[in-house]
Amino acid sequence: MTKLAPVLSAHWDEKDSFTIDAYTRNGGYKASKKALAMDPDAVIQLVKDSGLRGRGGAGFPTGMKWGFIPQGDNKDHYLVVNADESEPGTCKDMPLLLANPHVLVEGCIIACHAIRAKYAFIYIRGEVTHVVRRLNQAIEDAYKAGHLGNGIELVLHVGAGAYICGEETALLDSLEGFRGQPRLRPPFPAIAGLYARPTVVNNVESISSVPAIINNGAEWYQSMGTEKSKGTTLYSLSGHVKNPGQFEAPLGITLREILELSGGIRAGHTLKFWTPGGSSTPLFTSDHLDVPLDYEGVSAAGSMLGTKALQIFDETTCVVRAVLRWTEFYKHESCGKCTPCREGTWWLVQILRDLEAGKGTEADLAKLLDLCDNIMGRSFCALGDGATSPITSSIKYFRDEYIAHLTNGACPFDPAASTLFEGANK
Ligand code: SF4
Repeated sequence: MTKLAPVLSAHWDEKDSFTIDAYTRNGGYKASKKALAMDPDAVIQLVKDSGLRGRGGAGFPTGMKWGFIPQGDNKDHYLVVNADESEPGTCKDMPLLLANPHVLVEGCIIACHAIRAKYAFIYIRGEVTHVVRRLNQAIEDAYKAGHLGNGIELVLHVGAGAYICGEETALLDSLEGFRGQPRLRPPFPAIAGLYARPTVVNNVESISSVPAIINNGAEWYQSMGTEKSKGTTLYSLSGHVKNPGQFEAPLGITLREILELSGGIRAGHTLKFWTPGGSSTPLFTSDHLDVPLDYEGVSAAGSMLGTKALQIFDETTCVVRAVLRWTEFYKHESCGKCTPCREGTWWLVQILRDLEAGKGTEADLAKLLDLCDNIMGRSFCALGDGATSPITSSIKYFRDEYIAHLTNGACPFDPAASTLFEGANK
């Protein structure tokens, strides 16, 4: 069985893990010293060789992204770290920053050197005040220690809190002071990103993975994970489990293994459905317990690895109600730029509300799927597509439960209504 493999989370159980003293005691800031003595292109090559892929959802190779920045162009280059974590169920970057903010600071120094950038920006959600404070302290301490300020500046930018600002081009607009809405691509950020300059936008976990790669080498990183998905990663387990939290393991571990290592589903209950990568990834069921949780494995099984947010729901959960809640979130967070998503998510909520309340007919179910079909692939950015995933996948696996709402005239999981499903109302 694959075992948990703490690399990023290696020292999280130390009381002072977030301080510069603890980070330095545990070997911190050695990687940046080593990287700064290397040729920038050699750093990019090392990260390419390691096989590190972006941990923000898309899984794009990190070293390749860095390599896209034009060199010798006499333009300013920028590194932007996406810390706008806000997908329902996704909760890895904030715990990482709380436990060890310096690993991100050091990763930024290495990445800036590699892409020849003098400025790095971390864009973080304003709601997570405690994480903002901790990161601010870490940056201040890194300046005092001389790790920052000698040719590399790091700016923490606190966003006002909009899910769409996690989309990299909307994030750049917001960082520039505009309303956060996605930009038309091309040009891609590597050519015209922040202030129309070549920019790398990377996720917190991606950049935080770099210092260990510099210290231990590409082969070491390559030795973990699967053929195309290398290294370890943070899986965030939440919902109806005994021990929710972060579980760092090599890519390719299965949910069955994570549950065995973490204590399993809460006592007396069984797994009903789960998300492999947050609420915008198609749902899985107990039939998918042995799917390898790497980019290829999850995709082959019909979903996406996304942010590895494993939200677990047992048999007491009404899938229609869960999907309605997620859809309300996407409707609320739709930025309004394109019609399929702006109008479509509104209609999805109206129909789902009726279905969940047991109103409507099977024709509404068909209309719901038709709406999803008109949003999927026709929206300006991934938010629209993502909003349809829980709906279409839940109807695929739990159509009977949708129908039961209609025949029952109410949610069968509602204590006031009759119980149609084994396990409901427990
Ligand atoms: Fe905005 Fe939604 Fe269109 Fe994305 S898909 S641009 S969030 S309206």
